[in-house]
Amino acid sequence: MKSYELLLENNKDWAAGQVNADPEFFKRLSSLQTPEFLWIGCSDSRVPADKITGTQPGEIFVHRNIANMVVHTDVNLLSVLDYAVNHLKVRHVIVCGHYGCGGVKAAMGNQDFKPVLNMWLRNIKDVYHVYKDELNAIGNEEQRTDRLVELNVIEQVSHLAQTSIIQRAWKNDNLPHLHGWVYGLKDGLIKPVMEMAPNSSIDPLYQYNDL
Ligand code: ZN
Repeated sequence: MKSYELLLENNKDWAAGQVNADPEFFKRLSSLQTPEFLWIGCSDSRVPADKITGTQPGEIFVHRNIANMVVHTDVNLLSVLDYAVNHLKVRHVIVCGHYGCGGVKAAMGNQDFKPVLNMWLRNIKDVYHVYKDELNAIGNEEQRTDRLVELNVIEQVSHLAQTSIIQRAWKNDNLPHLHGWVYGLKDGLIKPVMEMAPNSSIDPLYQYNDL
């Protein structure tokens, strides 16, 4: 059997198992999704949002990219955010990074990854630049990488708050709450590193007054 055929076989087993445990499972989910959470995570195959949070299909709306970035010109990310916040009315937006992130490691080096990876990694280099004094003071390379992972998550949560999408939702609905988490590949545990309640103060430069 080819590797991808095994996935299709596994899918049949999984679907049968779900119906066995809950005959209404697919009927219920196919008509409606009301997730409470938007997850912005890394594409890394070792960080599956639903498995590590013990959630089921229908509970988390997911966007993933290399190093869980919130880039203000990324139409993909902004579309997901807009839909999740304004249509699904999620109550929480979670940016989840992970220690040992390959994207973060790559951004700390000087290798030319060619376009378009250089373009993407540049966003992470810019985070390093903001915190370079703190980061350069950490001698151990693994610890420096892990700290940049945390700072990158904090920075991406700030980017969310700087969007008119979030600011308008804060004004109109007093939602969503923003969270920055870091997942540990070595122990499977999530560490919260940042939280912003609705209407938290943000840098006036990024504040919209005419929402
Ligand atoms: Zn990663």
